[in-house]
Amino acid sequence: MLSNLITFDQTTGLSADVKPIQRRLSEMAGMYLDEATRAAMVEQNDPLVYEFHDLGVPERPGAIAYGTSITYAGKVGDEYFMTKGHFHSILETAEVYYCLKGQGLMLMENPEGDWELQKLTPGAAVYVPERFAHRSINTHPSDPLVTFFAFRGDAGHDYGTIESQGFRKLAIERGGKCEIIDNPRRRA
Ligand code: MN
Repeated sequence: MLSNLITFDQTTGLSADVKPIQRRLSEMAGMYLDEATRAAMVEQNDPLVYEFHDLGVPERPGAIAYGTSITYAGKVGDEYFMTKGHFHSILETAEVYYCLKGQGLMLMENPEGDWELQKLTPGAAVYVPERFAHRSINTHPSDPLVTFFAFRGDAGHDYGTIESQGFRKLAIERGGKCEIIDNPRRRA
């Protein structure tokens, strides 16, 4: 049973009674441009890249799944730490993210070929429209990026499409600045 009041720690974004789901770099094979560096980093200490809460909201159309997502600071080569990113299984699902802490980007794209980038900065809400895959990217050199998210409870997740084709755009650091480049491995 879900309690009526769930609080999130102001510093970590985590909730005391809920177990975070953690994603280490070893679970992101092939998702970064520099695969050799990724593999070497996995060998060295397999860093924690991001985590999120599964709050156990019933998977019904009228329910709202919600929680926090924390993307840690770091890079694989020149590419910032990021979430895997996903479409929703029910593609016609929008989602809202509210940035609590840190500095980053929400990268979005739809199957029709449109893409969109929004800044995540404390106090800013980002609306992810229906049909758009979405990925959080931490562009800060040291601070975690913490967001609160909410979307329809039965939407589900499709990670496979992004795992196999990647996003059209990548966020990399060049000369201390964030640059958005075309993903050279993306075919269409
Ligand atoms: Mn989502």
